[in-house]
Amino acid sequence: MNIALIAHDRKKEEMVNFVTAYEGVFHGHQLYATGTTGQRIMDATSLKIHRFMSGPLGGDQQIGALVAQNEMDLIIFLRDPLMAQPHEPDIIALLRLCDVQGIPVATNIATGELLVKALDRGEFAWRDLVHKYKPGENDVLG
Ligand code: PGA
Repeated sequence: MNIALIAHDRKKEEMVNFVTAYEGVFHGHQLYATGTTGQRIMDATSLKIHRFMSGPLGGDQQIGALVAQNEMDLIIFLRDPLMAQPHEPDIIALLRLCDVQGIPVATNIATGELLVKALDRGEFAWRDLVHKYKPGENDVLG
């Protein structure tokens, strides 16, 4: 599965702790993240993560582009609901695209935990069918 991880600044520690706790589940999947979130997770775990740009510089949009092409299978996006973000339009656009494509997305740790447990049980295997029956020419992540 292609999994994207994003955490706003005051949620980064929570994200690192979360991914560390479920590191065994995340192994074996292709991980993507915005710049700083990805670096923080890699510093704390043995996971390899493809890092996009930092969120405020366009990282959400880069992940959104893959969502638009139905390439991303799961997104855990720990948003900070108490702090205005300069890239709020990008965040809304990313979540809208998740709804367009029906991509499982968690915006807080409680739902994130449910999704990771479901991932561990293989409950997102239906996403393999999405990849299988999608025209190859639009594939970005291979
Ligand atoms: P970052 O981006 O991981 O580069 O901090 C996330 C965000 O703040 O949107």
